[in-house]
Amino acid sequence: MAYHPTDISLRERYCGHALNLKAKNTPYNKDIFQVGVAAHAVLENLGKACNEADEPIPYEQAVQVAEQTTIELASQGRAYDGIPEPPMKIKQALEGKALALKHYVYNPLPPDGLYEEHFAYNEAWERVDYNDTSAVFRTILDFILIETVTDEDGDTYTTAIVRDYKSSWYIDKDMLDNVQRRAQAVCVWLANQVDLLKMQVFSLRSGQCLERLIYTQTEQETLEQWQNDIGTAVKIMAQKQVASPGVSCIGCPYAYCCSYVSELATHGKHTIRKYAAATAISKALDKSVRALTKESPYRDANGLVGYKQKERVSAKKDAAQTMAKIWVSNGGSLSDYIGHLSLSVTQAKRIAKLLAKQGLDADTVLNALSSKSTYSQFGIHK
Ligand code: SF4
Repeated sequence: MAYHPTDISLRERYCGHALNLKAKNTPYNKDIFQVGVAAHAVLENLGKACNEADEPIPYEQAVQVAEQTTIELASQGRAYDGIPEPPMKIKQALEGKALALKHYVYNPLPPDGLYEEHFAYNEAWERVDYNDTSAVFRTILDFILIETVTDEDGDTYTTAIVRDYKSSWYIDKDMLDNVQRRAQAVCVWLANQVDLLKMQVFSLRSGQCLERLIYTQTEQETLEQWQNDIGTAVKIMAQKQVASPGVSCIGCPYAYCCSYVSELATHGKHTIRKYAAATAISKALDKSVRALTKESPYRDANGLVGYKQKERVSAKKDAAQTMAKIWVSNGGSLSDYIGHLSLSVTQAKRIAKLLAKQGLDADTVLNALSSKSTYSQFGIHK
């Protein structure tokens, strides 16, 4: 059995039984990933078209490639590690296509890049064919570009840009040091022996790119440590995996069908762990129940589950200006009026963004306007 970095994360975030359920191809709701899957597939095909053309293809051709990929994703689906997946929704495929094309406009794909490069290693860390039965560790990398660079002193060194596309708006620096990134660094380092690894996380939505440089000679010990850690994790995952229901179940994609979490939620003697289990099941079912009740709520004799019209009062868009006029026409001063208003952080961020367009540093403005404090929030925190 070959494991992916995502398997290590699954084991770490949830429990060993989640790996058992994954190995049995237990279905779970993949809706939230589908736009990203589509964007990755389009970028892969765009990259390969650039490989074939030996130059970045023109936008008109890119649109055709993206269109064809979208049609295939929404009509035939894709296969991941040989396991076929059902076709995705048209809306998801279209959204993924739009994200990929937007990225392509600003970041043409180099013809010598490697797109969706497959890596597999056996127990001795020898690179083997992706589907080789001796493979114990596998991963697929979105984009790699190996370059030879000559600096101003005439020294030549090799770099590898290793880019991971994310379809979420939010990316943070922690992503540059997680299991996935370490695994990618190790795979590229072992396969290419480059001098410098440029590990990148690229948000397709915001265009933000985070980068971590790894100098392979001076940081060889770190890379070896990561390699050993991955090797050990793979050995651990090859052992019998056991369930540990409780707080770990929160967010587990299998909580909707896992017998261990159900048992704890139903018959658990420990009130808090029982609560965590019940919450995990509820969270796991939430998305499906919302979808099922979107058109019409579920009703029984005692009530309904689903959406119900409620009334709420909200301020009109120009309420602040209208109120200012009323205040001033009744003898109040504008500064007193402003004193009665309270600026939310969201509003402050919006205004700071506008000021940034005039050249001001948004972070400096926000730092001057906001302060951090701690408070106690009830919930299950992982
Ligand atoms: S629901 Fe809980 S016990 Fe079941 S697989 Fe997930 S983390 Fe493990």
